[in-house]
Amino acid sequence: MNLETEIQFLKGVGDKKAAILKKEMEIFQIRDLLYTFPSRYVDRSRLTPIAEIDADSGFAVQFRGRLKLSETVGSGPATRLRAIVADHSGQIELVWFKGIKWLSTQLKIGQEYLFFGKPTIFNGRINFSHPELEAIQFEEQEQKGIMPQYSVPEKLKSHFINSKYIQKLIKQVLDLNIPIEEHLPSSVIESNQLMSLGWAIRNIHFPQSENDRKRAEHRIKFEEFFYIQLKLLVQKQYRIKTYRGHIFNTIGPNFNRYFNECLPFELTGAQKRVIKEIRQDVKSGRQMNRLLQGDVGSGKTMVAIFSMLLAIDNGMQAAIMAPTEILAQQHYNSIAPDLEQIGLNVFLLTGSSKKSERDKIHQALIDGTAHILIGTHALIENNVQFQNLGLVVIDEQHRFGVSQRAKLWAKNTVPPHMLIMTATPIPRTLSMTLYGDLDVSIIDELPPGRKAIETKHVYDNQQSQIFKFMHEQINLGRQIYVVFPLIKESEKLDYKALEEGFWAIHEAFPPPKFSISIVHGQVKAKDKEIEMQRFIKGQAQIMVATTVIEVGVNVPNASVMVIENADRFGLSQLHQLRGRVGRGADQSYCILKTPFKLSQDSRTRIKAMVDSTDGFKLAEIDMQLRGPGAIEGTQQSGIPFDFKLANLLTDQVILQKARQAAEMLTDEDPQLELAQNQLTRAYLKKHYTSKVNWSKIG
Ligand code: ADP
Ligand code: MG
Repeated sequence: MNLETEIQFLKGVGDKKAAILKKEMEIFQIRDLLYTFPSRYVDRSRLTPIAEIDADSGFAVQFRGRLKLSETVGSGPATRLRAIVADHSGQIELVWFKGIKWLSTQLKIGQEYLFFGKPTIFNGRINFSHPELEAIQFEEQEQKGIMPQYSVPEKLKSHFINSKYIQKLIKQVLDLNIPIEEHLPSSVIESNQLMSLGWAIRNIHFPQSENDRKRAEHRIKFEEFFYIQLKLLVQKQYRIKTYRGHIFNTIGPNFNRYFNECLPFELTGAQKRVIKEIRQDVKSGRQMNRLLQGDVGSGKTMVAIFSMLLAIDNGMQAAIMAPTEILAQQHYNSIAPDLEQIGLNVFLLTGSSKKSERDKIHQALIDGTAHILIGTHALIENNVQFQNLGLVVIDEQHRFGVSQRAKLWAKNTVPPHMLIMTATPIPRTLSMTLYGDLDVSIIDELPPGRKAIETKHVYDNQQSQIFKFMHEQINLGRQIYVVFPLIKESEKLDYKALEEGFWAIHEAFPPPKFSISIVHGQVKAKDKEIEMQRFIKGQAQIMVATTVIEVGVNVPNASVMVIENADRFGLSQLHQLRGRVGRGADQSYCILKTPFKLSQDSRTRIKAMVDSTDGFKLAEIDMQLRGPGAIEGTQQSGIPFDFKLANLLTDQVILQKARQAAEMLTDEDPQLELAQNQLTRAYLKKHYTSKVNWSKIG
């Protein structure tokens, strides 16, 4: 037998059980069985006497007792199995509402059991509903130590497949002493003081001590992180080896003219540093794949402009792709005038560009008279061909899928350099996993002179105060956003709330003195643009909107952001919205309006917003609250976040070490070609290729 042996060759696994294990638990081979890790451990030495069980503590407890009574009571849906269990200190009641028939054949009066569950209070008495239980066999009575418990789908129990059954199978396999071959390089094992795989597998199931269990767990978590990182880095090395990069040697006249004639302010230190990092990339002969993270308002657009100017100064074209028409338009409006003034041709291409305009743009791109193309994903369509595209900027990358980026690669025989920008800060551990094959630059400094945005939490019944405050601000010449939530699941209701909200605002700010613009998904693209422009030009004092305005919109005179039903937004979304204000010199405000009754999570989110304006810190809290899988961008990434043991929230140190180890290995052996790395390479290929959409594109 070996790890690849099918499980029906084990004692106690017939064809029927094998089929169930395969279907319900994805256990096909002995390896799968060994990699079915315990969901928890029972320490036999830790028992609570029945008399000391405390229902208020909120914790699950383990206790041991002899069955005194079991009976089926009630009828219809209220039918339940009731049991009384006693130990030396007292007795307690247990109830089951499901699986009664099978259980009642299992329970034996007089037998001693081990129970585990969370006590509740029912009719003034403590009881347990659906506790886990396990009969204590005679030979085990003396057995001490930590026993593994496996989580098994409830419905398998009627097929006699339960935690105990899995435990016995694993014991059987371990007793067979099947060799478990090590596949990590010995250098990695040594420098990280890892236990061998064989030892770890044995001890994750049947540890002799808590310390052994921890060491086993550490080894397995390390391995889970290590292979993901290795995959990313091998991929990156492959890219470096395979693709040349356009070489931008010179800083030429366009860069210099723009710098001297158009730049209205001094670049921040962070902007300078990042531009330098990009310069190093684009003159290295390697294709750049750089992720630029920077909070809203940190000035990423400037970095994009200088990067594009580098391309143009070296005889190539550049493009910038934004996720929405509004953003593309806005980039065009803010970037094009200056660039045209220094003699460059800049075009805007979106879904609503007219045919004649389109034809003109296509021609200019092909014959090379167009220097810069700004657009939405209209610019990745096949009929958009460039004479010589050298660099692409992707704004708000999480809105784009991998395949869309792949199409951009194909726009030139040698792929263009890629600068991928995001204003959604994510925790370092997450970015290491999501973007582990990219180089990362961070702008961690806001342009000077910005006043911290004041954030306030107010309740729905304080609407008149909000209106009063809005009046004051408008009298000072400021503009105001009012944002309403809109999600698919409750679209109708949400639109109704938006409409009602709009009329209330309309009444409080009547024409002709006031003007309100309105932008949401049901407004046609053309009208949306008109409404946006009215606000941008200052003709409208208030903009009522859904999250359409979430990313990128830049109106420096807007100084108040009112968020309706703020409890319904995620933390990163709230942060994005708040970033729409505080862009000018005036003191800005963010008002988070919520109902009085709030869930604990909502309260935590709102409080975090009031307390902090640091995007990275808020992202960290967001991940703690919702888990890594819920963070924007993780869905599309294709990275499996269903680690068996590892946890991105709590195992950051292990991740760090696994990353370092993978880096050291790929620095020395970029494609894992050395003899001593062949087992690692084979393991990587076998277990980490299919799970992930390993496109070559970062
Ligand atoms: P984001 O990173 O969110 O894309 P933008 O590039 O839109 O930020 O910049 C936000 C605002 O800050 C713009 O009005 C821009 O002109 C201004 N800005 C950018 N860099 C600087 C700087 N170094 N000094 C002062 N203002 C700056
Ligand atoms: Mg931006």
